Amino acid sequence: MPSETRLHYRREHLFIGGDWRPSTAPGTRTVISPVTEQPVGEAPDTAPADVDAAVAAARQALTASPWALWDGETRAAALDRFADALERRAEETARVVTAEMGMPISVSGPVEGTGPARTLRYFAQLARATPQEERRPAFPGPGTTVVRREPVGVVAPVVPWNFPQSLTMFKVAPALAAGCAVVVKPAPETVLDAFQLADAAQEAGIPDGVVNVVTGGRETGAYLVAHPGVDKVAFTGSTEAGRAIGEVCGRLLRPATLELGGKSAAIVLDDADLGQAVRGLAWACLLNSGQTCYTSSRILAPRSRYTEVVDAVADLAASLRVGDPSDPATRVGPLASARQRAGVESYIDAGLAGGARVVTGGGRPAGLERGWFVEPTVFADVDNSAVVAREEIFGPVLVVIPYDDVDQAVAIADDSPYGLAGTVWTSDEDKGLEIARRMRTGTVGVNFYNIDLGAPFGGVKASGLGRELGPEGLAAYVEHKSVYLRS
Ligand code: NAD
Repeated sequence: MPSETRLHYRREHLFIGGDWRPSTAPGTRTVISPVTEQPVGEAPDTAPADVDAAVAAARQALTASPWALWDGETRAAALDRFADALERRAEETARVVTAEMGMPISVSGPVEGTGPARTLRYFAQLARATPQEERRPAFPGPGTTVVRREPVGVVAPVVPWNFPQSLTMFKVAPALAAGCAVVVKPAPETVLDAFQLADAAQEAGIPDGVVNVVTGGRETGAYLVAHPGVDKVAFTGSTEAGRAIGEVCGRLLRPATLELGGKSAAIVLDDADLGQAVRGLAWACLLNSGQTCYTSSRILAPRSRYTEVVDAVADLAASLRVGDPSDPATRVGPLASARQRAGVESYIDAGLAGGARVVTGGGRPAGLERGWFVEPTVFADVDNSAVVAREEIFGPVLVVIPYDDVDQAVAIADDSPYGLAGTVWTSDEDKGLEIARRMRTGTVGVNFYNIDLGAPFGGVKASGLGRELGPEGLAAYVEHKSVYLRS
């Protein structure tokens, strides 16, 4: 029996106003293991009255506690303490995430366990370095203007299940660094790890009400996003939900950051060292069993080396160990839910029906009858107009598309409703940078893909609006106020 089935987490309270409070909702939510298909934990549901209480607590923290008025240094010290508290429970957090949604522990350890503390420390140093006020000579004068950076207010981070801790922290860390208060709404599939974050905030002495956690699904998310007490929404999730949230925020004139889906391209150039490229593609294309928004799931190969690339990618996919995600040797775990697997399998069927050739995978792995596993699958002879090349599959399914020259490769990469990420694989980094400059997308990796906490991350087109991370990510939680002085 996989070791992760021994975990059973039961939470009975919501984290509101610095306190653990019983929910007013009658029901609880059960989290099901994607490996055993049995319960691994339980959390209370959230009723609208609980969301009201959480938003009120966040507002109270901004108006009645000194939090929003603290200088950058004091706030940064609190964020560092928060990071320390998260680090102390990093291993357990990684185990919880793996138990909830099946992320291989080799990924959840560094990304979900220790990663969020790194994000907090990055924004702590940014809070230290960013003055709250600056004085500028007025143009054309006379006088001086004091430009103030003030917190945008109560922020609602609404997050998905695929990287639950790190994506939550992409929002919470800059929000707190800017002096905001947050009401976090995790995905129901990964509600348990959100309480780890609440435990750490409490242990770190983050002032009451600055961090609140409510649970629930789409309805709770929709109620929170439209709540009159919320000043900004920070959403990561599907393009469909992002559009719905964007419409609400547009009507309310409420700022929103929307990090949505992707269908990114890996352009393999004819000079690429395939051995090196394939090792990098394992991370760039199949991380978290393909349930990664920035995954380069369309591999564009020069026609002159098409067969070679298809074979190399197929060998890579076939070599990845599929199985119990709590085993450190596992590279591909189960998909997060039965619904997610059904969706991925329907895309595999669509690929076959559209005439694509399966070079490896295409079914369920032998010997893993229980759990929501799908074999890493590679399709060749795919046209960029095919469903499997256009829609986000969000599973371990790659398509390899041929191109004739670099101009056509860039055109195919850009011929997508999405524009979140991409990669270029070449033995000449300058050439890779030149191609990256031409791609219409939010981020590009040359010979690897690694999110830089100090640089803006986000997408164009159906991949969303706004940026997280870097100084640009902090600016998304700041309102600027100009005070005109005569002298
Ligand atoms: P989802 O959109 O179904 O749900 C995301 C979160 O939003 C959940 O907490 C959900 O309860 C809530 N929600 C759903 N509909 C809502 C609504 N109308 N109003 C308010 N809240 C609502 O997404 P998911 O299935 O949990 O996650 C997978 C998706 O997330 C994929 O499309 C993936 O590409 C995307 N994603 C994007 C990024 C990025 O940075 N661009 C990162 C990770 C995942």
